[in-house]
Amino acid sequence: MSTLEPNDGPSAASRAVCPGSFDPVTNGHLDIFGRASRLYDEVVVAVLVNQSKHGLFSHEERLDMLNQVTAHLPNVRIASFEGLLVDFCRTENISVVVKGLRAVTDFDYELKMAQMNFGLSGLETLFMPTNPLYSFLSSSLIKDVAKWGGDVSPHVPELVVARLSARLGDARRHTAS
Ligand code: ADP
Repeated sequence: MSTLEPNDGPSAASRAVCPGSFDPVTNGHLDIFGRASRLYDEVVVAVLVNQSKHGLFSHEERLDMLNQVTAHLPNVRIASFEGLLVDFCRTENISVVVKGLRAVTDFDYELKMAQMNFGLSGLETLFMPTNPLYSFLSSSLIKDVAKWGGDVSPHVPELVVARLSARLGDARRHTAS
């Protein structure tokens, strides 16, 4: 196992990554990006390319939404990655992963992932407690509610509300016809 040297200095910790699928981005994700952007010089929001899993939105659509909803955060950059997060971080010279923790149920999985990443390359993980306003939010819950016409506007940016209704409205029209 190789780890970071103790004297890598502050510059090594100044770039962080927020990885995820963001299908679609929610206000919970945005809250974490904003808070991380105040802690690090640069925050890279990295969208996992998963060839075997098709989301509601294509990879390009997710990147586009993320770019638009983070436009007010100048030190946040959107990127994609495939394969191991540790390899992406090595290439991008990123030494810390920032993860929002919603509840204890997140912790169990996230702890194992963080320990594995540290073991693989010395990549550190910072767990950020979710703002209680967003602790029940997940992309899948948003999609479930929006699919049946529920109002998700308090929980996702306006742009995402519009994209959801365009996508799911199309689906509903196809089902009805
Ligand atoms: P999902 O939103 O379906 O859990 P993602 O892979 O898109 O899945 O989430 C990426 C990461 O964003 C999660 O691992 C978690 O760290 C963080 N996250 C997700 N939802 C929230 C939320 N409501 N509040 C804070 N952080 C969140």
